[in-house]
Amino acid sequence: MLQLNNVTSGYGATTILHDLSLEVKEGEVVTIVGGNGAGKTTTLRTVSGLIETTSGSITFEGEDITHLPAHQVVDRGITLIPEARQLFSEMSVLENIQMGAYRTAAKSQYNQRLEEVLTLFPRVKERLQQRAESLSGGEQQMVAIARGMMACPKLLMFDEPSLGLAPIVVSQVFEVVKQIAKSGTTVLIVEQNVNQTLKVADRAYVIENGKIVMNGQAQELMGDDHIRKAYLGI
Ligand code: ATP
Repeated sequence: MLQLNNVTSGYGATTILHDLSLEVKEGEVVTIVGGNGAGKTTTLRTVSGLIETTSGSITFEGEDITHLPAHQVVDRGITLIPEARQLFSEMSVLENIQMGAYRTAAKSQYNQRLEEVLTLFPRVKERLQQRAESLSGGEQQMVAIARGMMACPKLLMFDEPSLGLAPIVVSQVFEVVKQIAKSGTTVLIVEQNVNQTLKVADRAYVIENGKIVMNGQAQELMGDDHIRKAYLGI
């Protein structure tokens, strides 16, 4: 479904991703794990068209999307749920969720989709009229996910959804990721929380210094010595 072929990208003169290749097949949950500053966010921003690819190519459902502007990438069915959620803090929860439905394909399905999304997040449903900033960190993360789902994406990309959340809420977030995948949306998730992510993912890539250094079935990587020492603290 999504393929990155020898992608190089970065900020200005600084190259962050070096010849990065990876693949996400339809229906999979794929994770990119790595430490601080490894290039996880940069990878998702590059796919989204927010950062220019300087060499290599990105294809989605067989189409070359390497140089498409970000809004056209969204139109193809790729949605990014950004790190730190980036909600409109003074707007209501419902208004924030509605903002997700701007993709053309999502507008016609708005009512049905809203109902489906709110079924997945009962706590959010009870707080639709509250200002987004009045919600707890975990609730705000759920709103960010709900907003992303309103775009009816084919591929949903999560940037560190567990960041800054209490352990119990982290488990709830990963539970939601599992349900989204089960309902047929393909998922690409980047995380520093390697342990939890490998439990929900089918396959994983390990990124260090902007390069993929390892990949395989998530289950297998959990047992790998390098992963256990470097990321699981075992
Ligand atoms: P984290 O988990 O800390 O967010 P990450 O793996 O997502 O890490 P990135 O955010 O992709 O890492 O950052 C990779 C590198 O790119 C880092 O060295 C970072 O300092 C650099 N970087 C990120 N954003 C910018 C920017 N806007 N301008 C210049 N360099 C940047």
